[in-house]
Amino acid sequence: MDVMTDVVIIGSGIAALQAALLLEKHFQVQIVTKSAVHVSSSYRAQGGVAAVTSEEDHVEYHVADTLKAGEYHHEKGHVEALIQDGAKIINNYLKSGLPIDRHSNGKPALGLEGAHSHHRILHAGGDRTGQIFIDYLLHKLSPKTKINCYEMAYELLLNTDGDCVGVLTKGRHGIKRYFAHHIILATGGAGALYSCTSNYPTNTGDGIALAFRAGAAVSDMEFMQFHPSLLWCENKAKGLVSEAVRGAGGIFVDAQRHSIMKGLHAQLDLAPRHITALALYHKRAAGEETFIDIAGINNFRTRFPTIAQLCDDNQIDLQNGLIPVAPGSHFLMGGIIADDKGRTTLANLYAVGEVACTGVHGANRLASNSLLEGITFGQKMAQFIIQKGYHQKNFILHHSKCSNTLPSLLSKEQLQQQMMQFLGIVRNNEDMQHFAQQLPSLQLLLHVHLQGLEQAELELLMMHIVATLMVHAAITRTETRGAHIRTDQPKIEAQWANRWIIFSQGQMKVRNSLYEYHQARGNAQAIF
Ligand SMILES: Cc1cc2nc3c(=O)[nH]c(=O)nc-3n(C[C@H](O)[C@H](O)[C@H](O)COP(=O)(O)OP(=O)(O)OC[C@H]3O[C@@H](n4cnc5c(N)ncnc54)[C@H](O)[C@@H]3O)c2cc1C
Repeated sequence: MDVMTDVVIIGSGIAALQAALLLEKHFQVQIVTKSAVHVSSSYRAQGGVAAVTSEEDHVEYHVADTLKAGEYHHEKGHVEALIQDGAKIINNYLKSGLPIDRHSNGKPALGLEGAHSHHRILHAGGDRTGQIFIDYLLHKLSPKTKINCYEMAYELLLNTDGDCVGVLTKGRHGIKRYFAHHIILATGGAGALYSCTSNYPTNTGDGIALAFRAGAAVSDMEFMQFHPSLLWCENKAKGLVSEAVRGAGGIFVDAQRHSIMKGLHAQLDLAPRHITALALYHKRAAGEETFIDIAGINNFRTRFPTIAQLCDDNQIDLQNGLIPVAPGSHFLMGGIIADDKGRTTLANLYAVGEVACTGVHGANRLASNSLLEGITFGQKMAQFIIQKGYHQKNFILHHSKCSNTLPSLLSKEQLQQQMMQFLGIVRNNEDMQHFAQQLPSLQLLLHVHLQGLEQAELELLMMHIVATLMVHAAITRTETRGAHIRTDQPKIEAQWANRWIIFSQGQMKVRNSLYEYHQARGNAQAIF
């Protein structure tokens, strides 16, 4: 079935909906999403949105915190745009009635999270920020914007000029071809490539894989953030215990209730995520259990209703004040290279939210900056597209020459297990080389003919492409910067400062900028 529209948005998280709200005033918009409309990291977000809204805080402080947390591996202009424009957009939301939590004097109740120098986390419904924000946006969306659920995008369509003009999806109603003037990928991250994750199983990095297959450039794939506190029961991650719990006084402890972070970092339990996650990783590797002690938090159930419910559902007795936790994959800093208007290296293809790499998170995202990213860059992208208007006249398709059959792949469980084991928070060259050898070559993966594949096969293929990009980037960056620790290269190395590992058109390049215009010092290495 063919669908002709003006704008097609893939995904139904915060970045997608924020853009759709503006775009629907000017264009016919179709949203396509892989599962139910609420299945997104955005809906799961607990802690809140980081933004400068109080008189004590300042844009400069928020920028400084973001750069420090991300080890200065940023596109600074985009960080400034995020924090400055984001503060304006969020302040407008506050005026327009977004139901955030407030003090009795009407002022927003601002939370504190790891590596923030000021209280600046806006939250709603205690720990239901994402849910309340998404419902607020969905409520504002007009019925003329169609949301097609349970449809998985799996291939981008290019015209004879090489512009992106559409997307193929597979779902309950078979295969659909969407043709549009503007195609937006808002497909979120890739946490579900790991066996222990805070993400939904649908977060398999599809957007990155399909953009890369179509020729778009991708970067920073070595940087996966691990959250220190996933609820851990029956040897499985059961959801997130937000950093806001530690902001409210929760403490990482061992089974004897001894503090884990004491003596390890000046910010103790609110140290940057890679520090806390590593501390818990070491304890657990030594066979110990790890917990958050919530005994010092008053009104835990009222302040954190989602987490309390999660604990009840998993028979955790909150009365004794110990919540069992373990680290797991949480947020991918890398993705499709895009600017603050969502423009990628492929004409008419936009990427926004976690799927994009705009250089705002550096090597380690500052907590609660990603909802801000979806809201801010979702709006900036929509404004840019509105200005651009209708322009595509050539919808004659370039037919893909991919002819490979699906190679033998790891099972989903094997892949997730190996990602956790070999490409987790602690890594080394030998393990990563071993893992890379388990994966088919990118050459094979990129040229698989997709027609006739089942949805599960398509998803597994996407996961293998993303895993391959991640492991090659991680092997190449011979230092420890940001979110993970390389035991064989344990220090930050000066020669890796401001160096980006970029995959584009079948090559891996190391460049001194995310963007082409500074390519002079780049060197290319074939990875096929
Ligand atoms: C448990 C949890 C708590 C978090 N808490 C916070 C927080 O408090 N503050 C904060 O700033 N950040 C938080 N984060 C991170 C933040 O939620 C995400 O980075 C952000 O919401 C991403 O938004 P997005 O719109 O880019 O993608 P998502 O919200 O992940 O949405 C992606 C959408 O794309 C769809 N999709 C994926 N692949 C396809 C495909 N092939 N075809 C069609 N549709 C597809 C998905 O189904 C989904 O609808 C949290 C993340 C998690 C997992």
